[in-house]
Amino acid sequence: MIDCLFCKIVKGEIPAEIVQESERTLAFRDINPQAPTHVLVIPKGHFANAAELALADDGLADEVFKTAHAIAVAEGIADTGYRLVFNTGPGAGQTVFHVHGHLLGGRGLTWPPG
Ligand code: ADP
Repeated sequence: MIDCLFCKIVKGEIPAEIVQESERTLAFRDINPQAPTHVLVIPKGHFANAAELALADDGLADEVFKTAHAIAVAEGIADTGYRLVFNTGPGAGQTVFHVHGHLLGGRGLTWPPG
């Protein structure tokens, strides 16, 4: 996707602090972190949101989840607890339309979110 911010990060056209990379996934630190750990986990291929990714039906959503958990372990937040959030659609606050899981942790997280 030509004008997609996260596709540009995948291609290396926009810098990002990469945390983990595999053949089909990329994880990088959020530019505006909302917690001590705030990492975005994405498939490298373009899917607009979690609904599109779920329909891809090729194990890719599974890879994104497993990547997020591996990073939580590496960041030392897996035992205390972390949150994995996929804002899906404008009504849920999604602003970048390349599916991304927000991995948040390292502080107390309240519920419900805003
Ligand atoms: P929101 O902006 O409301 O959090 P999203 O769920 O679509 O909506 O999240 C987009 C996320 O992408 C934001 O947390 C934002 O800080 C992050 N972001 C935007 N540009 C960059 C960038 N260049 N590098 C890393 N993170 C980015």
